[in-house]
Amino acid sequence: MRYKRVWYYQTMSDERQQLIDLYTRLEKLAGTLPLADTPEDIVPGEGSPTAEILCIGEAPGAQEQKERRPFVGRSGKLLRKTLTESGLEPAELYIANIVKARPPENRDPSLDEIEAYRPFLEQEIEIIKPTLIVTLGRFSMAAFLPDARISQVHGKLHKVKYSMFGDNHGEENQLEAEAQPVTERMVYVLPMYHPAAGLRNGTVLKAFKEDIAKIPKILEWLHMKNALAL
Ligand code: URA
Repeated sequence: MRYKRVWYYQTMSDERQQLIDLYTRLEKLAGTLPLADTPEDIVPGEGSPTAEILCIGEAPGAQEQKERRPFVGRSGKLLRKTLTESGLEPAELYIANIVKARPPENRDPSLDEIEAYRPFLEQEIEIIKPTLIVTLGRFSMAAFLPDARISQVHGKLHKVKYSMFGDNHGEENQLEAEAQPVTERMVYVLPMYHPAAGLRNGTVLKAFKEDIAKIPKILEWLHMKNALAL
């Protein structure tokens, strides 16, 4: 029992340290990455380093950049409140964005910006190894389900083959390196509307809340499935 506990804490701190190292690397790349002129422009992910649920948004807004925390503005408050109301504990959650710095005037992130930050999101997924990935909005959904339409797939669980390219940033032959997947992983993805869309439209808000309420049952099902596979 004692040994088990020591092992558990070591594992926890390993993942935490790996996430700290990842964001330290990102901060050092400020000036070479889009939207990040200084290290302070980078908004780190937040939550448990061994979270079962990884929520992925698109990019930080003004409040997020100010506090350097994801989803702390109006839409973030809606997200966090809805997760709590569905019985999800902070220890089960990690919240991050695809693009780690704020696009000016809250415009949509460009494809180039998404591509530039993609290796870092992939590493975040590799470190956390979540049981379930919840995408918020069409940009993060497109990273896993490029041809899907959010109005048709929201709230439905998808098993997706995902190619991890690793961190090739700064390599001379980056394009070639990125063309060769390092690893392929199967991940479970639950696409949802972005909470900001819920703030603008009552029908979307209802769907957003209903989709979040499905998470505990989906997690239970994934646990059972994983246990049977052992
Ligand atoms: N919208 C996002 O997609 N991410 C945030 O962190 C805040 C708002």
